[in-house]
Amino acid sequence: MKEIVPSPPPVVRNEAAAVQALFQQHVVPSYGRFDLVLSHGLGAYVYDVAGKRYLDLGGGIAVSSLGHAHPAITEALVEQSRKLVHVSNYYYHEPQGRLAQALVQLIGPGKCFFCNSGVEANEGLFKLARKFGHDEGRFEILSTLNSFHGRTLAGISATGQDKVKKGFEPLVPGFRQVPFNDLQAVRDAISPATVAILIEGIQGEGGVTPATPEYLLGLRQLCDEKKLLLLMDSVQCGHFRSGRFQSFQRILEAVPGGQDFLPDAISMAKSLGGGYPIGAFWVRAPYADLLGPGTHGTTYGGSPLACAVALRILEVIQRENLADNVRKVGDYLRQGLEALARKYPAVVRSIRGLGFMLGIELAPNIQNLPGDASKMQSSRFVNMLHANSLLAIPAGPDIVRLLPPLNLRRSEAEEGLSILEIVASRLAG
Ligand SMILES: *Cc1c(COP(=O)(O)O)cnc(C)c1O
Repeated sequence: MKEIVPSPPPVVRNEAAAVQALFQQHVVPSYGRFDLVLSHGLGAYVYDVAGKRYLDLGGGIAVSSLGHAHPAITEALVEQSRKLVHVSNYYYHEPQGRLAQALVQLIGPGKCFFCNSGVEANEGLFKLARKFGHDEGRFEILSTLNSFHGRTLAGISATGQDKVKKGFEPLVPGFRQVPFNDLQAVRDAISPATVAILIEGIQGEGGVTPATPEYLLGLRQLCDEKKLLLLMDSVQCGHFRSGRFQSFQRILEAVPGGQDFLPDAISMAKSLGGGYPIGAFWVRAPYADLLGPGTHGTTYGGSPLACAVALRILEVIQRENLADNVRKVGDYLRQGLEALARKYPAVVRSIRGLGFMLGIELAPNIQNLPGDASKMQSSRFVNMLHANSLLAIPAGPDIVRLLPPLNLRRSEAEEGLSILEIVASRLAG
């Protein structure tokens, strides 16, 4: 494969300080950014403007499902954009119908709605739940502590982390949080106004915590008993990241009765578009027509271009059996990380997660960790990884996430582990 190196734009000569100065002057400073100015990528690698190469095990926060500059994505973009980029949802077109069919086949009987991002997919779930309970006056959605559901007002209202809500009150009414993986806590919290329960199959931003099989099966039973919708936010943990299309399929695969489990609705985004923005939700058959004509919509949602890219990604995943790759290379990564935790207990406390959604829990108060002590340990650790040419993503103060592309090779995983070992051994002194 030929490496694609874009020529620098005329004014900014792709120089790190100049690009950063543009941001400081003209971009709203709502993100805490790392000190990296990236230029291009290929597969699991990205390059900064100085030409330094990084192994990208962060995958753009679980988005770059086929890595960078994958030729199948480029081809889909080029081919489809020659035919039809956008038409609006006043009309039918083949890519949206085919993508919906593909997602339904991967999940179960139901229908899909398309939008542009994860939080927008969640908004669809919230509106679905409100519509479902409307005539009985039920509207309340129970979500979980340490969850993350996106940054709109409803998204932060659903999210179980105070830091995203602070300064934006009053929040959207009708959301309450209960502890995750605690069935009794949900049962106790149900009120006459409750209409749905919302969880992530594997909590992502909150620190890479998978739901237990008992929790999933128990929630299904509870929702059936109390006439509640069971909503799953699969924006991060879905799309084969666990080794199965949906994380609940992986969590429940060896559990008696687990194969029959289905939530009532699932939100998706991130890996679905591999970097081209697309979100979606699937809703189970009995409720699939609740949102009738005129009740919900978005101008760009499910455009021919977005759907063509998502379809092509699914084809590559299936043709190359990447679910299997995620299991094999994911197991290899996990074993390597667990060996690090055993060897450097003063640096790595534990390893969590499934497949290619792995969390490295750092030991409390690591000695010798460089950087401003007021900053999170996870960010300071990630800075050290950057210095050693590895990208990873912080999740809360003490967890570092690996969310690599689904086609990551074993040799690349090995390279990542050796960089982590260099950093861990240095910190262990
Ligand atoms: C990233 C994420 C979202 C928000 O997705 P956006 O595309 O940023 O709106 C929602 N839920 C979960 C679990 C996520 O990881």
